[in-house]
Amino acid sequence: MTTYTALAWRWQNRRLVTATADSVHLAFWLPCRRGVDAKGWRAPMTLGYRLGDAGPAVAEIRAKLARLGLLSDSGSDRFDEELDRAVRQFQQERGMSADGVVGPATYRVLDEARWRLGDRLLSYVVANPQVGDDVLALQQRLTELGFEVGLVDGVFGPRTGEALREFQRNVGLPADGTCGPGTFKALARLTPIVTGGRPDNLRAVEALRQAGKRLPGKIVVIDPGHGGQDRGNVGHGLEEAALVEDLAARVEGRLAATGVHTYLTRGVTTAELDEYSRAQFANDAGANLVISVHVDAHPNPAASGVATYFYGSDRLDRPGINSAIGEMLAGLIQREVVVRTGLTDCRTHAKTWELLRHTRMPAVRVELGYLTNHDDAARLAHPGFRDVVAEAIVVAVQRVYLPSHEDAQTGRLRLHDLTGN
Ligand SMILES: [Zn+2]
Repeated sequence: MTTYTALAWRWQNRRLVTATADSVHLAFWLPCRRGVDAKGWRAPMTLGYRLGDAGPAVAEIRAKLARLGLLSDSGSDRFDEELDRAVRQFQQERGMSADGVVGPATYRVLDEARWRLGDRLLSYVVANPQVGDDVLALQQRLTELGFEVGLVDGVFGPRTGEALREFQRNVGLPADGTCGPGTFKALARLTPIVTGGRPDNLRAVEALRQAGKRLPGKIVVIDPGHGGQDRGNVGHGLEEAALVEDLAARVEGRLAATGVHTYLTRGVTTAELDEYSRAQFANDAGANLVISVHVDAHPNPAASGVATYFYGSDRLDRPGINSAIGEMLAGLIQREVVVRTGLTDCRTHAKTWELLRHTRMPAVRVELGYLTNHDDAARLAHPGFRDVVAEAIVVAVQRVYLPSHEDAQTGRLRLHDLTGN
């Protein structure tokens, strides 16, 4: 299984690997571990380097963090306390889970962070989109100047290419969609015409309203987390992978009844999928929304409740990258689930997790209670409770498309109301 996962990751990143010579080392030998504590609580399978490791890959991680100024470059190849702190700081600044483990996702973001605007030519390459902090800076700049790039996610997609051409036409440059020296200069010269407000988000909300309030014809991808050998969190005799399959099926059935085309990212027997593949699946399906379903766990059995996550970052020097619709959907799911189930409200949070970032449509991840909490687990074990959760999610999806004056109070809308039209 280790081999499969490592290979799958290499396959996913084969272009990145060939494109960036110094990524090659890491790709070949990512260790795989599973943490089990005395009470039998099992952490989700994680893959990567952490405190205590050593070797050339660790030296490479150190060098990358040193270039970002998060670590002094000592030439060491040990994953020590200092590196652990630097990794956690980097993860926190980037809106990732600050677990101190350099797995594929953290490594990718670390690799992207070395690019500054002007370091290389940027353009839209269909088969191999460019990814990096320079792309993010370009998107932020174009957005400030009033051009629509879609999500400011650091991925050079078709909309960023269109926005760049539009910008080039506006300033009298050849509209070739390639950001080279002339375009860099023009970008630096211009003063933002848009100050305050979020033109990209206003456009996103407007596009959503124009998509119509009816659910029929919409495409929603439901992503049950984990799967295959990766069983996710475990507690009180429940397994996350199986539980979220059941929840996803309940959501799918209800959404189908409202006329929504629903796709699941995986079936019961599907082999393990990483977050990036799940995002690609949703992109290929042309989804309007993506909802990823998980249940949480914590070594402290008192931890309980529901939380939702959308694409974005709270980091001060990376302002304005939140997905407006993602945040709206997260808020609606959070409120509906809390009101209907009474689960503890652990609120909504901006994250840059791969599924949220690489999806071209609004995506939300919901963590529906803690398997390590006695009450949450007892409730999740009950099919009737899972029905209530599924209905809450479906109603939240409908409310995204309802004009605000027609929107019913949280917890009031019933599935029956949605299927009546
Ligand atoms: Zn999970």
